Amino acid sequence: MRILILGGTGEGFALAERVAGSQHLSAVYSVAGRTRTPRLPPVECRSGGFGGTAGLAAYLRDHAIDLLVDATHPFAAQMSRHAVAAGERAGIPVLAVRRPAWQPGPGDAWTMVAEMADAPVAIGPHPARALLTIGQIDLAPFRAAPQHSYLIRSVETPPQEVLPPHHRLIRDRGPFTLDGERRLLADGRIEVLVTKNSGGAATAPKLAAARELGVQVIMVARPALPTATAEVGDADAAFDWLCAHHAAPTAAAPQPTRRGV
Ligand code: NAP
Repeated sequence: MRILILGGTGEGFALAERVAGSQHLSAVYSVAGRTRTPRLPPVECRSGGFGGTAGLAAYLRDHAIDLLVDATHPFAAQMSRHAVAAGERAGIPVLAVRRPAWQPGPGDAWTMVAEMADAPVAIGPHPARALLTIGQIDLAPFRAAPQHSYLIRSVETPPQEVLPPHHRLIRDRGPFTLDGERRLLADGRIEVLVTKNSGGAATAPKLAAARELGVQVIMVARPALPTATAEVGDADAAFDWLCAHHAAPTAAAPQPTRRGV
């Protein structure tokens, strides 16, 4: 069975690695092309948009794709909508890999906001030192709150036109450690942390560090995502789902080991 993995996440990468070792599955791994040095798995890879739902549906047909895996980031809502719509058009199932959202625990005092535009308002009217860990494309709303000073961490350098006036950039890519996050918050004398509710372990230590240091957390809620054929929470569950539903060997074939499926 041939699958297309819409990636750009740790889950997509890990699933592609597992598929690479499979006898019954082959995969194409797709990234949007925003990162100059993306992490690519040892399967066939492609980069760049498909041209909307119609373009993706055409790709699925032209490349004889049997199943589409949407392993994009939980905030990549447009790509997820296109995936479900294109799967319907092409008549193939769509498996969504969506890591669970973070939940506040004891000692957490999070301010929840519905979208990024609400986050600068939630920081408040008085000048504050804020750490923004929201990627490179959602920074523009913070230009409307120039009284704050911003420490911005992202994988790529954001475009100049979205940057707020008082900022400092750090280019870095997770996973991050609790020690490192403590140092970052303490050295920058950070008062407010703004983050998307991405979920997952790789970037969660900032939340523990914020709790320890009494840093306010502004948590941006996930966008609404479409309903796929099935949804799982991580790469292992995705691989198991693929094996159970679509890569079962015929009765005559030898029984594979779990990793060999
Ligand atoms: P988006 O707004 O949902 O997608 C915008 C457009 O980018 C899509 O319509 C599609 O173009 C193209 N695209 C997105 N993901 C693609 C993929 N895996 N392969 C090929 N084309 C893709 O998504 P985004 O927020 O820009 O995110 C882009 C990529 O970065 C995703 O793969 C996502 O997993 C990753 N990422 C996003 C975030 C985030 O916070 N948004 C964080 C970490 C990683 P066409 O319509 O032309 O097909």
